[in-house]
Amino acid sequence: MTQAIKLPCSGVDPELFWPHPTQEPVGKQLVAPLCSVCPLRLECLLAAFRGGEGGIWGGMTHTERVALRRYLTTDDLVNVTALNHALTVKFPLCLDCDKHRRPYTDGRCHTCHHKRRREDRDREAAAFEAELKNGTVAA
Ligand code: SF4
Ligand SMILES: [Zn+2]
Repeated sequence: MTQAIKLPCSGVDPELFWPHPTQEPVGKQLVAPLCSVCPLRLECLLAAFRGGEGGIWGGMTHTERVALRRYLTTDDLVNVTALNHALTVKFPLCLDCDKHRRPYTDGRCHTCHHKRRREDRDREAAAFEAELKNGTVAA
């Protein structure tokens, strides 16, 4: 007789897995630790890719999956083994956080990629402001 697997998310309020799009990062923070130890994480992720679902599946938000999906072929979604292979080969872990897969060509995950871009923009704005103050901006 096979024993039923108790999933980490069983008994958890399902609403947590369906955050409002603006609340995705907060929702992810809450549920990702559960998914990270789930024995069916890849199955869950695959189901979401196949069904085009919203919400958080396999520890990934809808936004993250949309970004990742662009790099996956139909063959990559044939089964869990193919998905796992594609993720391992195509997306080693993020250079910054070393936690998430990295769909961006700068080697970063979605979160870290955008964090970097924000930081770069802030730095450029601060440098420009300093130049303005010093009167060194080229006319
Ligand atoms: S990966 Fe899927 S099944 Fe596993 S805990 Fe997360 S939501 Fe539940
Ligand atoms: Zn990262």
